[in-house]
Amino acid sequence: MRQAVLVVDVINDFVSGAMGSERAARVVPNIRRLLDHARERGIPVVYVTDAHLPGIDHEFNLWPSHAVEGSEGAQIVEAIAPKAGDYHLKKRRYSAFHETGLDGLLRELKADTVIITGLVTDICVQHTAADAFFQGYRIVIPRDCVEARSDEEQEAGLRYMERNYGAETTTSEKLIQG
Ligand code: ZN
Repeated sequence: MRQAVLVVDVINDFVSGAMGSERAARVVPNIRRLLDHARERGIPVVYVTDAHLPGIDHEFNLWPSHAVEGSEGAQIVEAIAPKAGDYHLKKRRYSAFHETGLDGLLRELKADTVIITGLVTDICVQHTAADAFFQGYRIVIPRDCVEARSDEEQEAGLRYMERNYGAETTTSEKLIQG
């Protein structure tokens, strides 16, 4: 089993900015510990973040403007800024796989398992898990490293991914302890 850690949309707009929340902020230290552990073990870290086109992006028909490419809001949260050797891909839709080259990168890394972290559980994380499942990856989700807008949405998202994509839900602590 060869793992890679995905960090989905842990950007200023979703943590401290226009669409941010305390719920979102609480995953940051947990993801930080998991990423430090992954790097020590040589497990690749791949950030995939929203980078929307100003004004016309299709998502803005549904959501307020956010994560406009090049803006402060689209930047990865400082506390978990990428380190040397990490990868960073940009996306314009919910899934980290959609037109980003992520599948090709994971194949080059020889990864067959994705540990998905980030925001938010029942939207971008869940759509990323869907594509990971469609492409044949094994999925692991540390529940303390993903967050939704409410407890109900968090649990519903996790349950959906367990049931429909065979996602293994765990905690960052368990992954770090091996
Ligand atoms: Zn978006």
